Amino acid sequence: SDFVVGLTGGIGSGKSTVADAFVELGAALVDTDAIAHELTAAGGAAMPALIAAFGPAIADPSGALDRAAMRRLAFADPGARQRLEGILHPMIRQLSDARCRAASAPYVILAVPLLVESGSYRERCRRILVVDCPESLQIERVMARNGISEAEVRAILAAQASREARLAIADDVLVNDGERTILYRAVAALHAEYLHLAGRT
Ligand code: ATP
Repeated sequence: SDFVVGLTGGIGSGKSTVADAFVELGAALVDTDAIAHELTAAGGAAMPALIAAFGPAIADPSGALDRAAMRRLAFADPGARQRLEGILHPMIRQLSDARCRAASAPYVILAVPLLVESGSYRERCRRILVVDCPESLQIERVMARNGISEAEVRAILAAQASREARLAIADDVLVNDGERTILYRAVAALHAEYLHLAGRT
């Protein structure tokens, strides 16, 4: 499908919940986070280039990216993070493009956590959908889900684009500050709109 809806939102806003709801209704999902994991799993397509760039210690015994080792390296050498992204990002982009094109669903939800920060993904999207909720709820949900402290969640929030910056690029906004059933109803309404915009109704 060439009707691509970019889906983004802050940590814990409800992106995965929303993406799952669209898939239930018949949309295709292309998830850049999932692609990044695939590429860096054991036997993943990015592993040969990563091992060539950073040495064999960057892989764990199974051959998957050793995330703790990579974090230590990026901490010790700021250039390492950029080199990692220089290898991974073009591969993620290429694979996500190919999967969007190959999808036979009426439209594609392209989940990109850093859509605001990444201009080239925005260009590919016919619509940008932002999942929004108050910071206090993001903190509550992520503390509960990940078992981390409020300070740790706040540190992640501070490193992400602001709520205002996300809302500024949104064509559509799903407010996820109440019951899931309310969210699902709003997703169903957007699904109908996307089918229409994609020329399928
Ligand atoms: P991340 O950025 O961390 O991947 P996300 O934006 O994908 O998060 P979800 O994983 O969908 O967010 O939601 C975060 C947590 O909040 C999950 O545990 C989810 O089950 C819960 N959650 C999401 N929406 C609601 C809601 N409306 N009511 C109650 N819990 C919710």
